[in-house]
Formats: sequence, structure tokens, C-alpha cells
Amino acid sequence: MNGTTGIQDGYGLYINGQWRPASGGATLESCNPATAERLATIADATKADVDEAAAAARAAFETWSRTPVADRSEALLDIADLVEANLDHLAAVESSDNGKPIRETSGADVPLSVDHFRYFAGCMRADEGSATMTDASTLSIILREPLGVIGQIVPWNFPLLMAAWKLAPALVAGNTVVFKPSSATSLSVLELARLIDGAGILPPGVLNVITGSGGHSGEYLKAADVDKLAFTGSTEVGRGIGLAAAEKIIPATLELGGKSASIFFDDADPDVAVNGVQMGILFNQGQVCSAGSRIFVQASALDRFMEAFSAAFTAVRVGDPLDPRTQMGAQVDERQLTRILDYVEIGKAEGAEVAVGGSRYTQGPLAKGAFMQPTLILGRNDMRIAREEIFGPVGVVIPFEDEDDVVAMANDSDYGLGGGVFTASLDRALRVATRVRTGRIWVNQYNVFPAGAPFGGYKDSGIGRETHKMVLDAYQQTKNILINIGSGPVGLPYGA
Ligand code: NAP
Ligand code: MG
Repeated sequence: MNGTTGIQDGYGLYINGQWRPASGGATLESCNPATAERLATIADATKADVDEAAAAARAAFETWSRTPVADRSEALLDIADLVEANLDHLAAVESSDNGKPIRETSGADVPLSVDHFRYFAGCMRADEGSATMTDASTLSIILREPLGVIGQIVPWNFPLLMAAWKLAPALVAGNTVVFKPSSATSLSVLELARLIDGAGILPPGVLNVITGSGGHSGEYLKAADVDKLAFTGSTEVGRGIGLAAAEKIIPATLELGGKSASIFFDDADPDVAVNGVQMGILFNQGQVCSAGSRIFVQASALDRFMEAFSAAFTAVRVGDPLDPRTQMGAQVDERQLTRILDYVEIGKAEGAEVAVGGSRYTQGPLAKGAFMQPTLILGRNDMRIAREEIFGPVGVVIPFEDEDDVVAMANDSDYGLGGGVFTASLDRALRVATRVRTGRIWVNQYNVFPAGAPFGGYKDSGIGRETHKMVLDAYQQTKNILINIGSGPVGLPYGA
């Protein structure tokens, strides 16, 4: 056991209701990015392990798919209760492994996960299917059936919450799952599996967790005998998942990257605007796929807003993720921090001006961790820092003149995941919201993720929507049964 967070020294693979090491014996280390200390070892699954997990899920599908929907729904409610009862533990594990502040894990990641399990438990009960008469003698029954074995891969930015988003709809619809967390942050999902296993909520094989690097276990899962792939992560890896699914003729849902436009008109409420820019690019250290990373500010208010934003960014409390007063923690690892710092240099070379921050912390206790200063850079929409995903607390501020100007720049992007409009005029907010080509746009708020509101991307940001009951379509097959209830033959006559 590891200090106060209750993390085990080592974790195995969870296959068919059993914990065991990887068959090759290999392990990886999971670290705390705030201290650079080793937290635990995780297993690096082999191809044989992943295939075994898929076979276990295939066998479990026979009974799980026939388990009454009321019981599957009840299982989700039990999981939600279990996560809720272990909120402090899971929040501490997540903050230690990922570096995100405990006020976020205990106030957002874990409670949102609880709510997602409850939401999908309810949705599934409310989906009764449908039947209709297509003509006087034909009854059409539309049946929804689970797809089978689902391979799910998630990134490191919201490890537990992404698990909830993926597991809840898949399991409640009657599928079985082989789940792969990121090797950088596997511990919260392993703890979730340990809790579910301990409580005996799911039959063996319904949920399998395989860990290891993306290049190993991720590739093996892509190639495994599964009936659907569900992926959240980078556009580059997502494209490979889509290609693998096309080869197998199975569906894939992809939640990918973003470079979202957060638009501030001169009539925006100053306090709401400051909160919006902070939630947009500092929440989760800016490691949010829908981060408001392009900050468009109306030129008439640029000086006023820059002053307010800069003061707010400088005042943010960056520090120990486990301290409840901390507002921004560590980036997920040194590699990610290096990537962010490289982008700041790229921006400078392109002629952008760093207005606030721009560096890591080199003094005091933060020097040993992957801590980045909240950063604002004055730039242009054609710069690489405005086109490529930085995935850190680095906002690129770009001035604009009017609605047409800002809508054109917002849409001049390969991505279309999130976005925000800040203004006192609801008409204007709705005009802009309907013109920006993106899957989610917030008005006078940013980066809130309620269950029941669909989330997903246009363009290179992905295919499919999550966090809404419509994702159940992506986890089910449709079967149509047509029944002749007339008193004689139907169709074209073949008699003499
Ligand atoms: P990533 O490299 O694409 O990794 C995502 C997941 O895929 C991880 O579990 C990773 O495993 C695995 N993986 C890596 N290479 C693989 C391969 N060749 N085959 C199969 N799986 C593989 O992304 P990331 O850099 O960790 O995460 C950040 C990205 O995710 C950003 O681009 C962000 O925008 C996106 N994101 C999108 C959403 C959304 O909802 N749209 C949400 C969160 C994040 P390892 O980590 O173990 O290598
Ligand atoms: Mg870690």
C-alpha cells in the first residue's frame, strides 16, 4: 500500500473476474507527475492476454446479453453507489496519478462518473423499443440487441470519467467489454475494477481491464476479436482505430482532438468572461479535448479583457494536487510538459507575444514536478499554436472585429469539438452558436459536462456522440421482425 491514497504497489490484468500478471511478466511504472515519484507498477499485457480477455468477454456475452435489462440497470446503480461511497479514495488516486487538483477530482471527475452510471441505468429502462403496422396485415417489430464484445480505449486526461462515459452505455445495453486505460493513468480504473470485483456486481468476463502501452495492448485490442471499437484520444491514433474497424467491418466511435474557439464580445459580463477563459484553458491544466484554446477577443475590448485575464491567470493557485486549495496541478508527465513548452517556443518563433506565463516552475517545491504556468499568448489564427492541439494551459488570444470575422476564423480549423460565446446578447450568442461548425458550444460558461447533453465532434474531432442516450444506438444492433398477421399470403402472387 502506498501512503494515504490506498494505492497498491502493483496491479495485474483483470480478465474473466481474475487478477493476474501479464503472461510475459512485463510491467510498467505509473508515476505521480507532481513529485516524479513511482506510484505503482501495472502489467504490460501481451497479445495472448488481450485475446484471452476478448474470449472471456465473448463467453460472458452469452448470459449478460440475456440478463434482464432491469438487472443490468441495477448493476449500474450499484456501481454508481460504490463509486460514490469511495469518492475520497478514487479522487485521491486520480489526483496522485494524473496530477489534477483534488477539488476537480472530488468536485467533477468522480461525481460526474457517478451521475453517468445513474443516467444510463435510467435511459436503458426507458427504451422500450417499438412496433408498428406497416400495412393492414404486417406488424413490424423493431428490436434492439447488444452488439457483442466492445474494445474500449481511453486517454489519460479524465481516466475515471472516460471509463464511466464508455462503460455505462456499453454494459447496460448488454455488451461485454475489454477496456484499456492509458498506461500513464491506469490506477483509478484498476481501483474501480477492484471495487466492482470485490462487491461481486458483474459476472466474470463482463468487464475486463487490460493495461499496457498503446503500442502494445492498444494495438492488440485493435486486432482482437471484438464487435466494435470505441476510442477517445488523439486524431492520429483514432484514424488508425477507424481503419482497423473498416477492415473488420465493425463500427467505431471516435472522440478525438480539438482546437476550440472561445469567443468574447465586448458586452460580455466581465466576471463571467474571466471564469469562462479560466474554465476554458486552465481546467484540468488545459488537458481537455474541448479546451477553449483559441481565445477570440473583440478588438474594442482587447486591452480591458487582457488586463482582467492576465490578472486572473497570475493569481491562480498552482500547487500540490492533493491540497484542496490548489486550482491547477501538474501536467500528466514530463513528456507532455516538454511538448507544451516546445509550442510556446514555436509561437515565439512565429512572432507571437507571451503576455502571461510561458514557462515551467523552476523554483521551490514545484520545480521537481511537471508544473506549467497559466499562459496567454497574443497570436494569429494562422499560426501553428492556433492550429495544432497544445493540450496544456496555454491560450492563444486572437483579436477580431465583428461576428462575420470571428465566425470565419472559428471555422478555419481542422477541428470542431467545443467552443464558447460570451456576450450579453442572447440573439448574438445564438447566431454565432449556430454558425460555428462544432459539436458543442457553451454560452456564457465553458467545459461543463452534464449527463444527458450530447458531446462529440465535427470534422477531425471525431465520429459519434457520448453522454446522451443516443450513444446507446452505437452500442446496439437493430433487428426488424416483420409478421404477416393477415388471413392469407402477402407479397406478389406466384400461383398459376
Ligand atoms: P493517444 O496517444 O491517442 O492515446 C489515447 C489512448 O490510445 C491511450 O490509451 C493510448 O495508450 C492508446 N494508444 C496509443 N497508441 C495506440 C495505438 N497505436 N493503438 C491503439 N491504442 C493506442 O492520445 P493522448 O495523447 O494520450 O490523449 C490526448 C488526446 O486525446 C488529445 O488529442 C485530446 O484532444 C484527445 N481527447 C479527446 C477527447 C474527446 O472526448 N474527444 C477526450 C479526451 C482526450 P497509452 O497512453 O498507454 O500509450
Ligand atoms: Mg501517472
